[in-house]
Amino acid sequence: MNIDTLIVQSGTRRDPATGSISTPIYQVASFVHPELGKSTGFDYSRSGNPTRQSLEEAMAKLEGGKGAFAFASGMAAITATLFLFKPGDHLVVSNDLYGGTYRIFQELFQHYGIEASFVDTCSPDKIADAIQLNTRALFIETPTNPLMKICNLHSAIDLAKKHNLLTIVDNTFMTPYLQQPLKIGADIVVHSATKYLGGHNDLVAGIVVAKDKELADKIQFIQNASGSVLGPQDSWLLLRGLKTLALRMERHQENAMKIACWLQSQPSIEKVYYPGLPEHPGHEINQKQASGFGGMLSFAVKDPCLVPHILKNVQIISFAESLGGVESLITFPARQTHADIPADIREKIGVTDCLLRLSVGIENAEDLIKDLEGVLHE
Ligand SMILES: *Cc1c(COP(=O)(O)O)cnc(C)c1O
Repeated sequence: MNIDTLIVQSGTRRDPATGSISTPIYQVASFVHPELGKSTGFDYSRSGNPTRQSLEEAMAKLEGGKGAFAFASGMAAITATLFLFKPGDHLVVSNDLYGGTYRIFQELFQHYGIEASFVDTCSPDKIADAIQLNTRALFIETPTNPLMKICNLHSAIDLAKKHNLLTIVDNTFMTPYLQQPLKIGADIVVHSATKYLGGHNDLVAGIVVAKDKELADKIQFIQNASGSVLGPQDSWLLLRGLKTLALRMERHQENAMKIACWLQSQPSIEKVYYPGLPEHPGHEINQKQASGFGGMLSFAVKDPCLVPHILKNVQIISFAESLGGVESLITFPARQTHADIPADIREKIGVTDCLLRLSVGIENAEDLIKDLEGVLHE
């Protein structure tokens, strides 16, 4: 079955008792046992809930994994994944990544003896140089956030396998509609489902998908033991949003391409970061590992004084954190998503005071361009 069909069929016809076409919301904590030693398959909603399970089964299918698990947020999903490691373990992590992921490594897991080296995972040599005797995993975002660099998944995964490391890919920006890292050989995919999977800027959720049964069993144990599960209402809302993922992604990337090309022609713009542009250094690699370029782009203005003007005066585009929803959002990474990354590191990797990140929504591209046109000059 094609991925767009699979996406639409997420969670359908799950209730044989009524034939209900969408998965019902099982707003329940506990399930009655028919008799001692017998179970309906559910006993307590932290361990398993039918609405959540329907979402989890759909996500496992979409990513091509043996098990998927839904969490209360993307950070809860990443936390659960990091519980796979123990004191003394080391991970090699993308240096241009979601600020919250950087924070959880540096300010939380480090206290528990789990170390991370942040390197440019777009360079296989730099990954190789960072691997130590105690390295257990590679943690990759591609495209990276917010600089939209492309990591070569095939070579990174080959390298990880050679050194017996797990490969964990944060697939939030691409979604399984455009990129399926498990099929390339990654072991775990994590998502902030708050973004494209939910797609409507109306819920916070996270997903972990494991390639094989052994890892799936471990994540399931961690999910039940640590308990940051996604509730039934939000599981339902996520399933509901998920069904239009294919259509939304097509429109997101069509709009992003138009806006990226238009921005490039503007005299006040220093640089546009969008992997769909043929001159983007990761353009060809991305084509080998994904079926599209997604809806995220960043751009640097020449004059940093323009930044507050843009953020204050956009009309259709909202100045707000987050991404991946139907509405276009613009953020200022240096002060928002990436504020926890020290200024010198930020500047070095290119997250400067001139950089803005645009989550291109599914509005009419012409209206979005007009909105930007109105704010690019003071
Ligand atoms: C938002 C985001 C996260 C964190 O997810 P939450 O749902 O906000 O907890 C992790 N990774 C990426 C790439 C994100 O964009």
